[in-house]
Amino acid sequence: MKRKYLLSTVLLVLFFTSVFESSAYASTVQEVDLRSANYPGNYIDGMNIYDQRVSVSSTIGSYRLHFARIATAANDRVSVTSSYSGTSQEAGTIYLTSSGYSTDIWTPWITGPAYINLITTNDGNVSTGFVVDYIEYTGTSSPLINANAFYPNSFSSVSNLSVYQAPSVATYGYSTMVTNGLNSYDAITNANIGFTASTSTTAQVRISANNTSGLDFFAITQPYTSSGKAISSIETTTWGYATVVINNAVMNSWGLTTTNKQKVITHELGHILSLNHQTNLDVNSIMKTGKLTITSPSSVDISNIQYKW
Ligand SMILES: [Zn+2]
Repeated sequence: MKRKYLLSTVLLVLFFTSVFESSAYASTVQEVDLRSANYPGNYIDGMNIYDQRVSVSSTIGSYRLHFARIATAANDRVSVTSSYSGTSQEAGTIYLTSSGYSTDIWTPWITGPAYINLITTNDGNVSTGFVVDYIEYTGTSSPLINANAFYPNSFSSVSNLSVYQAPSVATYGYSTMVTNGLNSYDAITNANIGFTASTSTTAQVRISANNTSGLDFFAITQPYTSSGKAISSIETTTWGYATVVINNAVMNSWGLTTTNKQKVITHELGHILSLNHQTNLDVNSIMKTGKLTITSPSSVDISNIQYKW
């Protein structure tokens, strides 16, 4: 009898949990990567204030951020400010004010854009700062779509792009990831995308890798005109060729797994198709920046690619 009572209590809890999750309080958790300067290395001493802007879709309701870790030296602190009614205010507590570190910290719920502030004193003591790995939000996100998702410049066609991989790509273990990335775009239906492997160093897409440390990006894609002039992200011109440079040492120093590295490679190949970054943290896209576990184009990315190509 007692056992039966317990079972119905469990069922009742399950029922209410499921109603709760499908109600107006339904929320979505999305992976993000927001970190203080130099993380996982030490931040710079006496920087006074280091702001990391939290960009979110205007169509979401409220949101909260999850810090995987905050580490500060004595007298330094991390806080989150947001603007309610046009005035900047703390979105709750100051998260760490003494030397040491904490992990697994959710902020209070926030509305509108916010800033993560790392406030440091010039006392010779530094630590690693913060890394935010999740956002939880209510409502619907608004990704960049159609023309807004792209640079104003691109190849004239991507239906048969020649791709050269320098020997360094294999040296640092990225050949399979490049193949996977190319295949994930090639497989999109209702889009005219194709790649042909080339042994020519003058192919349209030229991919190489290096083991140089001290840089602050995982990889970089750069388009050029046919005469070799670098094209900026705001120019309206046609690409002649593009380079992708993979920074193996940087990814290793940031602790990227094979999955995280695959994300970086697929992301860069998105740039090859002229996809720009998706900056709103609540959006699910291969075109968000950072150390993430998404490895192929999301539904948003796919529909954008189908729009342009
Ligand atoms: Zn990028």
